[in-house]
Amino acid sequence: MKYEGNLNVENQKLQKDRGSYAGRAFAVLMLALLLAATALGQAAPDTQAPLPPASTAYHIGDAEAKELFRSLDLILQFASEHSGLPIRHEVKKKLATREEVQRYLEKRIHDAGNERFDRAGRSLERLGLLPRGFKLREYMLSLYKEQVEGWYDPKSKTVYLLDWVPPDAQKPVMAHELTHALQDQNYDLDKWLNVAQDTRDESAQSVIDEQREARQSMAEGQAMVVLFDYMLAPSGQSVEDDPAAADVMRSSISDAGADNTYARAPICLREMMLFPYTFGTDFVLRVLARRGRQAAFAGVLEHPPLDTHQVMEPAAYLSGEPQKTIRVLAVEKTLGSGWRREDFSGLGEVDLRVILRQWAGDEAAKLATAWRGGYYAVVTQKGHAERVMPMALVLKLDSAESARKFAAIYEAELPRRYQKVQPGKAAGEWETEEGTVKLVVEGTAIIGLEGFAATDAARLLPQLRSSLHEAVEIHEPAQ
Ligand SMILES: [Zn+2]
Repeated sequence: MKYEGNLNVENQKLQKDRGSYAGRAFAVLMLALLLAATALGQAAPDTQAPLPPASTAYHIGDAEAKELFRSLDLILQFASEHSGLPIRHEVKKKLATREEVQRYLEKRIHDAGNERFDRAGRSLERLGLLPRGFKLREYMLSLYKEQVEGWYDPKSKTVYLLDWVPPDAQKPVMAHELTHALQDQNYDLDKWLNVAQDTRDESAQSVIDEQREARQSMAEGQAMVVLFDYMLAPSGQSVEDDPAAADVMRSSISDAGADNTYARAPICLREMMLFPYTFGTDFVLRVLARRGRQAAFAGVLEHPPLDTHQVMEPAAYLSGEPQKTIRVLAVEKTLGSGWRREDFSGLGEVDLRVILRQWAGDEAAKLATAWRGGYYAVVTQKGHAERVMPMALVLKLDSAESARKFAAIYEAELPRRYQKVQPGKAAGEWETEEGTVKLVVEGTAIIGLEGFAATDAARLLPQLRSSLHEAVEIHEPAQ
């Protein structure tokens, strides 16, 4: 359930066997989905300024384009001063038409692999986070087409300007994009965001997934803070001098009040697309306030947070305490020959927040801070391919009380996820049209088994229980 806009996801470096980690195939583009950035300078910060409709047919003139290109050098200078990241070389610039952008987006989505989108979509459907039959790939494409406001492509080292957006609206976006260019020049953004090669080892993979999500948030958070500074510059202020102004701008990165494809997106897609911009920005602002600019930019790029828990709770990062998570049990190996993993993903604190928000609303989402580790696996058995794929979900929380709260939310959601739900033979069991759902509260953890035959569940459960007691310390990857 990883959604990072990690552009390495669609990078050709990736091996073919990544299909099994398709849960992460979302947001495959490193775009500036500056969802509300255009609203920053406006009176009502909670509304989103939509792109000019095609009918207004604004088109940038030659003289305007020239002036915009020239201004980029100054904006790059600005981004360097405000991030402390030195300019190593010039940034290539290109003016793109709407058609070019659309073709580019289509290619990116295509390169990411249709199959991976389909698998990711099915897993999110399985968790009740997307409606059944949801066309994820098509939806993401239309979302990107609608939301794109500019982007920096680390592969070609080029920043793209849009020929249908007035220059003044593009300049703040360029402060953001050129910050990405500086991150790239100094830390090789592609490689930095990718963290490490994918692995078949589930525990290691779930750690890598979380690190990618955390780093994506840092890249976006830093670029947002430079954008804020750029917006404040005419008044002679900066984010550091005027934290209140920064708060107002930060609160405009929201999904409230918009009326477009994005606003109509299922909660889980909105949450995962917004995460790097909201929590990432909050994190960078917090480090900036506590430790200064060097720590918030170069410091964070050299020692990024290790997971979404640290991103969402910067105190955990600032304290320097070791980060721990649980060992992941290879469900298909435990079940034996004939079983195959269809999908697997670690569940980080951000994922728990998404699940809670979708299942039970904003208030319930606060329980996400109780996160201490988790994952889910979807498996199939040879000869039973036509059956619904069984799923195991494991979540460790901070206390037995939190575990019971989550179990209650899980149970309450079942009638929305299945058409028929009846109490099963034992407590914590329900019969549905897709087999038995078994929910076990084990100390501070929850184990959910859906669609497994009773004998398979009985073999799996003791192994899952004992795996909960093994803590894995998270380290920065060897570069
Ligand atoms: Zn960005």
